[in-house]
Amino acid sequence: MLDADFFHRWMTATAASVEREAERLTALDSAIGDADHGINLQRGFRAVKAALEKEAPDTPGAVLVLSGRQLISTVGGASGPLYGTLLRRTGKALGTAAKVSEAELAEALRAGVDAVMALGGAAPGDKTMVDALVPAVDTLGDGFAAARAAAEEGAVATIPLQARKGRASYLGERSIGHQDPGAASSALLVACLEEAAAA
Ligand code: ADP
Ligand code: MG
Ligand code: MG
Repeated sequence: MLDADFFHRWMTATAASVEREAERLTALDSAIGDADHGINLQRGFRAVKAALEKEAPDTPGAVLVLSGRQLISTVGGASGPLYGTLLRRTGKALGTAAKVSEAELAEALRAGVDAVMALGGAAPGDKTMVDALVPAVDTLGDGFAAARAAAEEGAVATIPLQARKGRASYLGERSIGHQDPGAASSALLVACLEEAAAA
């Protein structure tokens, strides 16, 4: 079973991963966007870390709802409301239980990803974070390592796609040949589930 500490570790591991990868994420966004994705997520996950330390929420759901709220209020770009919605909706789906199973997390994350698609209007294949998140929730039933591999594959698979949502879509065919920055950061988020489980 996964407790609040697990979810706190997931968020702090993601914050650390974003710090390590911020330059790469911003470089990806400089090719097909406005070169701020790493900076946006750095600002957001620093706020997540600080809020979790200060408020120490004691249920899985509360950890994710608080984290999502921080992302919505601190990230200026499109990714803030989208990641914020992902975490808030997933957290709400987990309810007030003190511990949740991996199957319950998989189901809640599915609700979170559905909310991201409803908010942003992106479907798989549109070259967005959805291309990493959907394969991750599809394989989460096989464990965190499987979800990590699926998200990484999904992120790499955005390279040949033409963007149909977000800033990159303004480039039309010129968006082809570059990895989507949000899909890359979603793969980091999913990878950190495995890190949190290993700790
Ligand atoms: P901005 O584009 O406002 O500068 P970021 O650079 O932080 O925001 O985030 C860009 C990422 O957000 C994209 O790479 C893409 O994955 C994701 N994104 C943008 N618009 C959408 C959307 N409508 N639906 C899903 N994801 C989106
Ligand atoms: Mg950007
Ligand atoms: Mg921007």
